[in-house]
Amino acid sequence: MAIEKKQKSKSKKRSHVVLTSHSNQIFKKSLPINWGARDPMERGPVVATVSNKQNRNAIGSHSGSYTVYRALSIAAGQFPEDHAPDLENTDPTVSIEPSETWFQPERIVSLDPLGADINKHFGSYLKQGYNIKPTIAVTYAHLSIPEVTEAIKLGRLPVDGKIVRKSHDVKVTKIAIEPVWYLPGIAQRVGIDEGELRKVLFTETGGMFPELVTRPDLKLLLPPIGSTTAYVFGDVHNLKKPGVELTCRVHDECNGSDVFGSDICTCRPYLTYGIEDAARTAQRGGVGIVVYFRKEGRALGEVTKFLVYNARKRQPGGDSAATYFHRTECVAGVQDARFQELMPDVLHYFGIQKIDHLHSMSNMKYDAIVGSGIKVMNRLSIPEELIPADAQVEIEAKKAAGYFTDGKVKKGEELKTVVGRSIKEDS
Ligand SMILES: [Zn+2]
Repeated sequence: MAIEKKQKSKSKKRSHVVLTSHSNQIFKKSLPINWGARDPMERGPVVATVSNKQNRNAIGSHSGSYTVYRALSIAAGQFPEDHAPDLENTDPTVSIEPSETWFQPERIVSLDPLGADINKHFGSYLKQGYNIKPTIAVTYAHLSIPEVTEAIKLGRLPVDGKIVRKSHDVKVTKIAIEPVWYLPGIAQRVGIDEGELRKVLFTETGGMFPELVTRPDLKLLLPPIGSTTAYVFGDVHNLKKPGVELTCRVHDECNGSDVFGSDICTCRPYLTYGIEDAARTAQRGGVGIVVYFRKEGRALGEVTKFLVYNARKRQPGGDSAATYFHRTECVAGVQDARFQELMPDVLHYFGIQKIDHLHSMSNMKYDAIVGSGIKVMNRLSIPEELIPADAQVEIEAKKAAGYFTDGKVKKGEELKTVVGRSIKEDS
């Protein structure tokens, strides 16, 4: 009976819905955004919380894809929907100081550089009762990774007691970054008209955010996608100093390999070797950064990725480096949907001007970084011995397709001889 009553009151409460596209929703109380403005008060805070709808100046809501789980918790009555965060003691453990790139509206378009220090930049608005939430959080951590321990045992990475501890854990600063898209800047990056971008985003998400097409005055979108995490080894403030040696790995999520150690690709070895080399750079007075992007399966998702694995292994002749990219294109429609042009924004957030050692084979990543104005001195691929046997198909196919390598590139008939395990061998 009590539950019935609760459900009744809940459905009553929600029976009246005002569409966000309704003209009454354009309130004068929402603060204007002047993207790239130097003075935070002139730039304006990003208000994407839903507690006071009349204050909102952004489309979408916080927490990326988790916003849907938040909605479920609220729907189930387990989460007070008018909750305003108590931000006491949540300030960054280290402050990311502004760089000139913060004030170039076209340079950073997919995150809010003011998103970490809400109390510092927008304290007066918080006192007035605006519900402003940080989109960036900075904290310290210690990483304990088997491959790093292995590198220490093999003598590749010394224990210095500062970056690498006696217990073999590695000290880092980690920075979580939620996506905040400045739509005119995103359109420019994609190379299309802003109106067209809004239309396609609206249509391709099944009409998820009507304001994309009805509210051209709202220039910001917090899209329901995964966030980005940067792991910094050594002093964060050194990232912006071109005179300090910098090692960088920009890594796209591959849950199967990164977390579970699946051996069909080189993702985890690339990640852990990047961490090892970033730590080593910090030990000799430089700084290392590993940025982790939630772009699973080349941003096509894990279901598509596993379908491709099966298609690769079941095709006539088996899984071969010669047909690696072709199979992805057959299943997904494209080889890659990662759109690396937004990726360098994180590097510009830290004020990075020059990378001494870039751990990546990808030309798309390299071109995006260099095209955004950051110098890259050296490109590095991982040592051969770190590549799992079944991942030879991937690595040889990438090398043959022009991915960066300082090793030998197999072509034609030779490429056909690089084969992976079959479904039968896997089962
Ligand atoms: Zn992978």
